Amino acid sequence: MALVYPRKISLAQTPTPLQYLERASEKWGRGHRIWVKRDDLTGCTLSGNKVRKLEFIMAHAIDNGFDTILTCGGVQSNHCRATALAGAQLGLGVHLLLRGDAPEDIEGNLLLDHLAGAAVNCYPSAQFVSEIDALFSQWQEHYAAKGHKAMVVPTGGSDGIGAWGYIAACEELASDFSANNIDSAHVVVATGSGGTQTGLTLGAALHQLPATVWGINVCDNAEYFLNKVASDTADWQQRYPDAPAVDIQPRVLDGYVGQGYAMASPEIFELIAELSRLEGLVLDPVYTGKAFAGMLAEISGGRFEQCRDIVFVHTGGLFGVFPQRSGFNYTLAPTGTP
Ligand SMILES: *Cc1c(COP(=O)(O)O)cnc(C)c1O
Repeated sequence: MALVYPRKISLAQTPTPLQYLERASEKWGRGHRIWVKRDDLTGCTLSGNKVRKLEFIMAHAIDNGFDTILTCGGVQSNHCRATALAGAQLGLGVHLLLRGDAPEDIEGNLLLDHLAGAAVNCYPSAQFVSEIDALFSQWQEHYAAKGHKAMVVPTGGSDGIGAWGYIAACEELASDFSANNIDSAHVVVATGSGGTQTGLTLGAALHQLPATVWGINVCDNAEYFLNKVASDTADWQQRYPDAPAVDIQPRVLDGYVGQGYAMASPEIFELIAELSRLEGLVLDPVYTGKAFAGMLAEISGGRFEQCRDIVFVHTGGLFGVFPQRSGFNYTLAPTGTP
C-alpha cells in the first residue's frame, strides 16, 4: 500500500547533506565508515530535528483551526525554541511551559523563545512533573475564554503527527545511501522524547531502508523508550488508519545518560571539543555529545561488526552549548598561546 503523507508546511531546509567523517572514521571507526546526517543544518534558528516534526504539526494546527500552540520542555528546550520561531513565522501564538526555575540569565534557546515573542512560564521541576497535564488544560481554557483555540503539542513534538517528520527523512536517507554506495547501515540517534527514533524506525520499515536504527537515550532508560516508541507508533496508527501496517522493533542503547539529563561529564565536553577540532563538527552536551560518545563506545565494543557503514544523525542543539560554556573551561587555551 502506498504511503500517503498528511499535509506539511515547508519550514526546514531539506534535504540535509550526508557527510562522511574521514578523520573521525580513521581515529575511531575500527574499519567502519562514520557518516553524519546533518540535521543540524535544517535551518539557522530553526536548526535541528524538531523542525521536521513541526512541518507536520503546524500544518495540522492550522488545518484544524488552532491559532495558538501550547507546548512544554526544559528551560533550554530546542523543541520549544523551534516551536516559538515557527509559530512567529506562521503567525500563530506560542505559549511555552518550561520545567525548572526561571534562570537569572536569559540565554541560549530561552533568549530565542523571548525574541520570537512566545509567552513563557517556568514551573519548578516537581510541580511541572506532577501537574503538566492540568497546566495544559488550564491554559487551554484560558485561551478558549478569550476566543482563541490552543493546541497542545507534547514534549519534543513526539506523537503520531510529529512521527511523520522522520518517516519522511528516511526517504532522504534512502537517496543518500544510493548516492554514496551504502548498501546497509546502522543509524544512530540521540533519543530524548522518543519521536525522532519513532519516525526513523517506522520510516526505515516503510521505505525498506536497509538500516538498523538505534536510539541512544539521554534520560530515563531503555524500557522507557521502548514503551515510548511503541505508544507513539500506536498513536500514529490510530490517527492514520489508512497508513500501511508495519511491524517495528525499536532498539535502544542504554548506559550513556551519565549523571542525568542535561548533565555532561568532562569526557563529553572533551569529546565535543575534539570533534570540533578534528572535523569542524560541533555537538552539544545535552543530546548529540552523549549519543556520539555512546556510538564510539559501541563501535569499540563491536556492536556494529557485521556492517561497514554507521550513520550518526546530528539532531542539532547548538544553542544549548552556550549556557553550558563553563564545561569547556579546562580545555580552552588562553587567547594568544602560540
Ligand atoms: C530533542 C532533541 C533530541 C531528541 O529527539 P527526540 O525526538 O525528542 O527523542 C536529540 N537532539 C537534539 C539536539 C534535540 O533537541
